[in-house]
Amino acid sequence: MEVWVDKPKCTGCQHCKDVCPVGVFELMDRKEKDKVNSGDPAPENEKWEGVSDPEVVKKWKDVEDGHRHFADDNDGTSGGISVAVSGEACILCQACLIECEGECINIKDDTGAEYKSIYA
Ligand code: SF4
Ligand code: SF4
Repeated sequence: MEVWVDKPKCTGCQHCKDVCPVGVFELMDRKEKDKVNSGDPAPENEKWEGVSDPEVVKKWKDVEDGHRHFADDNDGTSGGISVAVSGEACILCQACLIECEGECINIKDDTGAEYKSIYA
């Protein structure tokens, strides 16, 4: 299984890490660009260049749900940017796919079928 995050769309809500039963995701500091970009197989146009997607920012920046949206660092509950550091462990339970605020998680299974998150 291949898993990656479309980084400019990640709000840092941490839902992915909280629901994943096999520890695929890690929230990293947004300032550590090289580390963020080397952590999962995101294609070039989904790597982190330091700028969030304006549509996602518009939708989530003022939402008060206890998450530190778009914060640089992670405080253990939210903030930072998600990286799929252990995509090979994914069991395709799909929990993260319905919890992802930024609709930015991508999974490709061993047959090449692709799955994308839709916020439910
Ligand atoms: S679909 Fe995969 S990455 Fe997502 S929560 Fe389930 S095991 Fe984790
Ligand atoms: S659930 Fe989606 S938006 Fe939230 S931290 Fe994970 S990848 Fe980012």
